[in-house]
This record gives sequence, C-alpha cells and structure tokens, in this order.
Amino acid sequence: MNNFKIIKKDKHTRARLGILTTPHGTVRTPSYVMVGTYGRIRYLSPADIKKTKTQIIICNTYHLWEKALKAKSLKSKAKNKLNTFLIKSLGLNIPTMTDSGGFQVFSLAFWHAKGVKKIFPDKPDKANKIQRKNIKVTEKGVYFLLDGRKRFLGPELSVKIQDKLGADIIFAFDELTYLLDNYTYTKKSLERTHHWAKICLQKHKNKHQMLFGITQGGPFKDLRIKGAKFIGSLPFDGFGIGGSFGKEEMIDVLRWTIPHLPEEKPRHLLGVGKIEDIFRAIESGVDLFDCVIPTREARHGRLYTKTGHMDIRRGYYTEDKKIIERGCGCPTCKKKVSRSKIRELLKSDEPVRQAQGQRYALMHNMWFFNNLVEEIRNSIAQGRFGAFKNKTLTNFNK
Ligand SMILES: [Zn+2]
Repeated sequence: MNNFKIIKKDKHTRARLGILTTPHGTVRTPSYVMVGTYGRIRYLSPADIKKTKTQIIICNTYHLWEKALKAKSLKSKAKNKLNTFLIKSLGLNIPTMTDSGGFQVFSLAFWHAKGVKKIFPDKPDKANKIQRKNIKVTEKGVYFLLDGRKRFLGPELSVKIQDKLGADIIFAFDELTYLLDNYTYTKKSLERTHHWAKICLQKHKNKHQMLFGITQGGPFKDLRIKGAKFIGSLPFDGFGIGGSFGKEEMIDVLRWTIPHLPEEKPRHLLGVGKIEDIFRAIESGVDLFDCVIPTREARHGRLYTKTGHMDIRRGYYTEDKKIIERGCGCPTCKKKVSRSKIRELLKSDEPVRQAQGQRYALMHNMWFFNNLVEEIRNSIAQGRFGAFKNKTLTNFNK
C-alpha cells in the first residue's frame, strides 16, 4: 500500500510537498510532529490541541511501556484496531507515531556518565571518554538497570509494545550511539542496528501501522552511506534519520543519507525542530521532524514570534498589555490574552492559574511552529521557498 504521495518538488532544493495517509487522517508534509511523551499534551484538552494546527503527535514507547502492557482496554482493542491506546489516551482522533523506546534506554548510559549533560552537545568535550554504564548492549537487545531492577528492551519487544500502543507510524529499534563514539564502535553498532531492522520487519504484523526503518552511522560519511543504502533497500514504509550528530554535522548527515533512500517514501528526522534547522531539514528533503521545543519552551515561558522569542517571565512584561504577537492566529492571541496576563498566570502559586498560563503559552507556541511549517508548504507550492526562508530567518534573527 502506498501511503505517501509527493505532489510537488522544489526546483532549487530537495524540498518537497506530500500527503501522508494514515488510518486516523492525512498529514500534509513537510510537517512538524508535536511530542506528547506520555500519550497526552499536559495542560491541553483535545479541543485545545485541535486549535493549534497540530497534524500528528509522537509519543514515547519507553514512558508508556508498562501502562500499555497492563491496560485492560487493550483487550477490546482487538475488536476495533483503530480505537487504539494512544487515541484513547489523547482523546483525539489524530495521526500518531511512537518511537522505539531505544532513545531513552540508550540515553540512560550517558546520563550517568560523568560530565555528559547533553546527549548531543553542540561542542562535545573530546577529553570525556564514553563509558556505557548501567546498560549492556548485546545482539539480542539492551539490558539496563532502572530503579534498581534489571530490564530488557530489544527489537521484538519494541515492535510488540508499539503494536499495543497502536500508533499509525512506528519505528524500528536501533542503537543510539554517542557523538564521540569512535569509528570501530559506531561500525559495530551499525551492524547491530541493521540486524535489528530485519527482526523488526519480520515481527511487524499490524497492517494498520506503517513501520519506519532508522538509518544510523554517527558522524562518519562511509557508515552513513552504508546505513542509508542498507536500510533504504529494506521494505520499510518510510525512514527515520537517527542519531549522533552535532548541529554543524546535520547538513552533512542529510546530504550523505537522503540520496540513498527511496524517493517515493517519507523521511523523518528524529529530534530536530529549531527554526533554522527546520529550513535546513526541509531543503535537504526531510518530510517529517519531531522536537520538544514548542512544548518544552512554552513550559519555561519562552514564547516564539516572527522576530525572535521572548521570556515572558521577565519583569519587563509586568505591565505589557500587548498580545504575544500582532497578527498571530493562535487561540491565545485571538482571545487577546495579554503578555502581562500570561506572565502573571505562569508565575502564580495557584496550580489552576498556573495551568491556565501554561495552556495559553503552549497553544501559542504549537500554533506558531505548525503555522510556520504551513507557510513553508505554501511557499514550496508557489515556488518561492528560498525567498521565504531568507525572509523568515532574517526577521527571526533581527
Ligand atoms: Zn499567538
């Protein structure tokens, strides 16, 4: 079944417009994928989410794992394959994705490593040797310690859990390497990822779900090309570009990877979503990308506008009666909620008022990013993507 249709290609870049059809609706690509870690977006009702132009939501297998395996509602799921755990959890009939759970499991090793604060630092400390503590990677999968208990996650179990969660798009289980892993380790890891990819394809039986393979290869050109060629040759429904690269290396990784993936299938860049990176990804041929930026930054009071972002918690906004951004069509700005009001709510000691502030901030940021990508789609449709990119980035970095 061909679930993805390319409707237009940009003449000057690899950017393209497409329509991805899922059992829970269509997604116009390129599209931002909003993150709902625990199968919901905290502080927002289903009706709120609908008003933010959100097309698709990705949830984390790792965080939903136990809940999903225990949930009674899953028994009745067999009768109606489309009323899935995630749809029930979100309370919304919307296309969904789940990751494989691997990211969090492999991250456990790094979070505990001395001096590693971020998995993908912009400037990694090359003197800091990577030692994998708390996890043991084998050909079968990964053994890890969580809350003092020994646990295991591998390709077969990941597909099984993702089947139960019932997202429209699921990802193959792959090994996350660290930016500073050496060539030998990354090469060995790539072989494991390829072995696991084949197991995921074998175990994937839910025909309502699309299964995306993930290409890896760290920052090494030959491994990236090898990975893209191999994963690209397998009968996946789409492809995720995963892994280990710093900000500067992203363009290289995409340039090495994308030409070796089948043109007619969708491509998802995992964990990328800053404004400049969105343009870089789309012009490199990426159709989907997910990132916590719109939601996480809203929670910290950082609100986005066309001319940059503002930290609404600052005292500077105490008397500011303007809305967040003039001309913004989000539910918060349309309701004329002022900057000072949002600040006051976010800083309130009363949980109900604080939640209202969070809700206003979230709806604005999610709408902002979804609308930006909608404008990008329009610019591709009208053959003015390059000009739109330049104008947007110039205004944003003023
Ligand atoms: Zn707004």
